[in-house]
Amino acid sequence: MLLMAMLTGVVYLIWLFFSQAFVKPIYNLYQFRSPLSAPLVHLLETKFPYYMTLSWKEKKEFCFRLKYFLASKNFQGRGRLEVTNEMKVLVGACAVQITFGFQPLQLKSFRKIILFPKEYYSKHTKKLHKGEVNSAGIIVFSWEDFLKGYTFNEDGYNLGLHEMAHALKLEDFIPNSECSFLDNEVLAHWQSLTKVEMKRIRNKQNTFLRPYAGTNREEFFAVCVEQFFEQPQSFYNHNPELYLTLANLIQQDPLKRHKEQMLKEY
Ligand SMILES: [Zn+2]
Repeated sequence: MLLMAMLTGVVYLIWLFFSQAFVKPIYNLYQFRSPLSAPLVHLLETKFPYYMTLSWKEKKEFCFRLKYFLASKNFQGRGRLEVTNEMKVLVGACAVQITFGFQPLQLKSFRKIILFPKEYYSKHTKKLHKGEVNSAGIIVFSWEDFLKGYTFNEDGYNLGLHEMAHALKLEDFIPNSECSFLDNEVLAHWQSLTKVEMKRIRNKQNTFLRPYAGTNREEFFAVCVEQFFEQPQSFYNHNPELYLTLANLIQQDPLKRHKEQMLKEY
């Protein structure tokens, strides 16, 4: 009888372990697998260049990740800006774009996303800003400038990607269930290349990366991410090692994707 009770107890404990460890997360993720509404898919198909380059299977995965990301975010409009579902989807798509090489990420440390209609005055810096990310868990965008980033998607300027790059770096650093997704060895190599390239920018020997990349290591990373996605061929031509290290760091290669697509079309 005692043996029976002990066996039942062990079975219960095993069930409890597996249900907590696997069943619950799978159930939670499953709810984001339902399709996105047709108008929102159409929005991605027409206004989000990265999405247009994906295969059917990748698009499905992209929409799942988009819903997963948005589920953890609280959007707020400022200056009488009304935040619409379309705006949420485009901001979420930007986060999915930069994290698409990793396991699904919500950038959990960032709960609030604030949208201003255009450039806004910051009481903190007493300057006009287009966007910012702070360690209190807030991402801010000027909506006008966010849209410009995707309207002109080959000029190397993309506010959304710039701020998401800051968020990605911080998320990797802040201890929580999503941290440390950047490979330490690749990151160390990236930091050493950063040092050399920043010196070239400051000495005006750099002809590709924007001078703003020379501000500090974090701005360097954010500017590189913008130009990496928008001008992959020129970035590669400028410094193949820097380009390939960034591709390795964020685990995706826009140039490779572009070439594969050209082959398919051919
Ligand atoms: Zn920045």
